[in-house]
Amino acid sequence: MKTTQHEAHTHDHTTDFNQLLKSNGLKVTKPRLRVLEVISDKKTAITQPELERVFGAEIDRVTLYRILASFEDKGILHKIFDLHGTATYAICSTKCSADHHHDQHVHFICSVCNSVYCLDEISVPKINIPTNFSLHAIAINAVGICEVCQAQQD
Ligand SMILES: [Zn+2]
Ligand SMILES: [Zn+2]
Ligand SMILES: [Zn+2]
Repeated sequence: MKTTQHEAHTHDHTTDFNQLLKSNGLKVTKPRLRVLEVISDKKTAITQPELERVFGAEIDRVTLYRILASFEDKGILHKIFDLHGTATYAICSTKCSADHHHDQHVHFICSVCNSVYCLDEISVPKINIPTNFSLHAIAINAVGICEVCQAQQD
C-alpha cells in the first residue's frame, strides 16, 4: 500500500476560485481572487475594515466594496453582523446561488474577541412565520467564548 497522496495533497485554491467566479458569471480578476483567498484562509468571518488593512493599497476601498457586494449577491459570500452590528463576511457553502443563500447555519460570536465563526454543521431550525409574510433569512447567533480565548483564560 503506497497511496498516501490524499492526505498530503495541497489544495490548489486558485483553480477552485477561477471556477467559482466563472460559474457565477464574474470575470476572473486579481482583486477578486485575492479577496477569496484572504477570506477563505481565515477561520473566522472578516470585516471590510480588516480586509482594507490586509490589502492596503493593493485594492482600493471602492473596488473592495463592489467585490463584496457582488459576491454577496451571487451567493459566494454571506454577511453576518457581529456583536457591535458590524458586517462580517464568510465564504458560502457551495449550495448558495445568486439571490439564494442556503447556508442557514448558526453563527458563534465570541464575547471576548468578537470573532464570528460559521457553525456550518448546525442548521437553523425551521420556523413558521405568519402566512402573509415572506421569509428571506433567519439569523441565529450563539454568543460565548471561543476556543482561542478559552485557551488564553486557562
Ligand atoms: Zn450563502
Ligand atoms: Zn474569542
Ligand atoms: Zn456562516
